[in-house]
Amino acid sequence: MAVKSFKNFIDGKWVNSVSGETFENLNPANTRDCLGRFQQSVGEDVNRAVNAALNAREAWRKLPAPRRGEILYRAGEALIKNKDALARDMCREMGKILKETLGDVQEAIDTVYYFAGEGRRLEGETRPSELSDKFCMTVRMPVGVVGAITPWNFPIAIPSWKLAPALIAGNTVVIKPATDTPLSVVNLVQVLEKAGLPPGVLNMVAGSGSGVGVPIVEHSGVNLVSFTGSTNTGADISSRCAAAMKPFSLEMGGKNAIIVMDDADLDLALEGVLWGAFGTTGQRCTACSRVIVHKKVVKKFTDMLLQRTKALRLGDGLKSKTEVGPLVNEAQRQKVKKYCEIGKEEGARLLTGGDYHRGKGCKDGFFFQPTLFGEVDPKMRIAREEIFGPVLAVLPCKDLDDAVEIVNDSKFGLSSAIYTRDVNRAFKAIEALDTGITYINSSTIGAEVHLPFGGTKGTGNGHREVGSAAFDTYTEWKSVFVDYSGKLQKAQIETG
Ligand code: NAD
Repeated sequence: MAVKSFKNFIDGKWVNSVSGETFENLNPANTRDCLGRFQQSVGEDVNRAVNAALNAREAWRKLPAPRRGEILYRAGEALIKNKDALARDMCREMGKILKETLGDVQEAIDTVYYFAGEGRRLEGETRPSELSDKFCMTVRMPVGVVGAITPWNFPIAIPSWKLAPALIAGNTVVIKPATDTPLSVVNLVQVLEKAGLPPGVLNMVAGSGSGVGVPIVEHSGVNLVSFTGSTNTGADISSRCAAAMKPFSLEMGGKNAIIVMDDADLDLALEGVLWGAFGTTGQRCTACSRVIVHKKVVKKFTDMLLQRTKALRLGDGLKSKTEVGPLVNEAQRQKVKKYCEIGKEEGARLLTGGDYHRGKGCKDGFFFQPTLFGEVDPKMRIAREEIFGPVLAVLPCKDLDDAVEIVNDSKFGLSSAIYTRDVNRAFKAIEALDTGITYINSSTIGAEVHLPFGGTKGTGNGHREVGSAAFDTYTEWKSVFVDYSGKLQKAQIETG
């Protein structure tokens, strides 16, 4: 069968890259399945996309926000209608199981509906003036052209987290999808195009980090860079944006942990830890990669975990019985394998897994055995560095204070969780855990789009995605003073 070719979306038209080059998009569960060829774009494509976004900016900003919201509502309806097809494409493209890709599309539906509603709020503040006959308020203004750079692990949800708040606030956008998942972004852009976005308001340029990402970051017409991805790339974007004095928001890695106390419901904790560690094959920024278990229950809980980890069914995510899909690509698989070797060298006890999985139906994909390490010390690299694969480290702890110290002894600060039946312990943990998200009696994953998402320390640079907090990224505050006294009034001078 002929391989389908997909184009960039610039100024309302689907166009080829000026490079004339394309790249392949393969199914990580079966590399003989090619989803299509995508544009290997270059700086000139980015230039054209940014110019289109600049030209569209004024008219889009002037369109009343509730009208912009109507376009997002229509996009939400189309996402619902096409949910199954979008989730199937995503499953073939990225490998996570169908139940999860349906959840990914659902997250985009929730996001566009939430921000469509924000079109009728976009709240500012009113404040009293220190002078008579003077009115003070703040309004949110769009920042201009947003450059959005996205990863492959949430191929539709994360792009929607950036596009929906940016667009409703009156910005125009150039988006670059991850090279492993351009089809899902093409699908999302098509939905928004059909929902009625005017030409130039949203532009999509596919290609590599150096070929497309860097030109977006460095383009003088891009007013804000919104990035989600690895810490290394985030650091590179930081230095480029800082040199250009350009605002940027970063959502990066995690080394998330679940604490299991001696009073926890161990069966409940088991489900949460398995879902956190092996859901999305461990390739979530919020994945649980450390479970910190009270010494009184660590043996029992590790045995429970081992039994269930060994029984996980690997395979093509489109098959209903599959519980764990492949890793996204071979480089990722090699990285996970390398960390398993490091863990063994450091003296952690490999309880199961640790190698490629080549079982039935998995020979042509990037499968890796769900892996459990026991007796892990907090100083080991497998307890400190982001692995981004199905690898879980069990660390014993003495008490709550000890557990909190282990969780916080990390350069990342995205998500944490605690299983306990003691409400005092739960609230102490909420206060003490240095992460942007904390769950009580639930796994490290499960964000809802009307709450802010993001992390402390090396996970980000202080910004949050979604929720009303997203507007702190995608808008500039303007303070407005209306003097209706009919005379010159001098703040500070007349009031002192
Ligand atoms: P990545 O950094 O390799 O790539 C992310 C995007 O940046 C891709 O589109 C890539 O092409 C582009 N890129 C690469 N180099 C670039 C450069 N120099 N300049 C500009 N753009 C460049 O990350 P990934 O492998 O796609 O994603 C996995 C990482 O993302 C993990 O570390 C994970 O924790 C993180 N992540 C974080 C969150 C969060 O919200 N905190 C969510 C999902 C994923």
